Amino acid sequence: MGIRFASLGSGSKGNGTLIDDGNTCLLIDLGFTIKESVRRLSRLGMSPDDVDAILVTHEHADHIHGVAGFARKFSTPVYLTPGTYQAKLMGQLPELRKINCHFPFSVGSFEVTPVAVPHDAKEPCQYVLSSGDLNIGVLTDLGHITPHVQRSYRDCDALLLECNHDPEMLAQGPYPYPLKRRVGGDYGHLNNAQAAELLGSVDLARLQHLVISHISEQNNQHDLAQNAVKPLLTDWQGSLIIASQKEGFDWISLG
Ligand SMILES: [Zn+2]
Ligand SMILES: [Zn+2]
Repeated sequence: MGIRFASLGSGSKGNGTLIDDGNTCLLIDLGFTIKESVRRLSRLGMSPDDVDAILVTHEHADHIHGVAGFARKFSTPVYLTPGTYQAKLMGQLPELRKINCHFPFSVGSFEVTPVAVPHDAKEPCQYVLSSGDLNIGVLTDLGHITPHVQRSYRDCDALLLECNHDPEMLAQGPYPYPLKRRVGGDYGHLNNAQAAELLGSVDLARLQHLVISHISEQNNQHDLAQNAVKPLLTDWQGSLIIASQKEGFDWISLG
């Protein structure tokens, strides 16, 4: 058995990551309308009923926009921290599962380890999912790297890692000053160099796939992000992928 994973889209206009071990299919975040979500799922050969549960990272619209509507329409269980639920009361949910972001839990055949991260949301967490002996980590929307984050993502076989912005492009770019401060601050988003720094604590002998994720369309470029992480990957044998806002990325198999 293995794991396959894909993205409905990645970035500040909407996120959604599918992780499927052949037994259980989980969706991390859903930042698109129901109609758009269904369209993007079908592009990956999936229907809404294939999604066994949604894991939410935090209440920002690019992660939560479609969650409640989708969950109600398709009776999908939703897992989230109490803080995330409080910050964005989503009304009646068919199956609301509040999680403690300091303890692992099971969903179907996955073991899910939430990881608390520094981000300007009420109680944000990111996730490492395990099935069999495979670990896949999703790590976006954090302002800086903590020792806890470094430890939690060390043994990933696949990693979706935020490379949000290039600091120079952010400084020179079109965002108003308060937003520049927010994005570049300790509770905003990882820049390319910070993402590279995180890779320093990942076991690269184990890592098969690295997906550059949550790239800013205004404040970054694909080659800048790639160039930032490449020096860390000189002897690395894995595959480097870039997730886009529009297309996400197609299924990748891990085994
Ligand atoms: Zn986001
Ligand atoms: Zn966010």
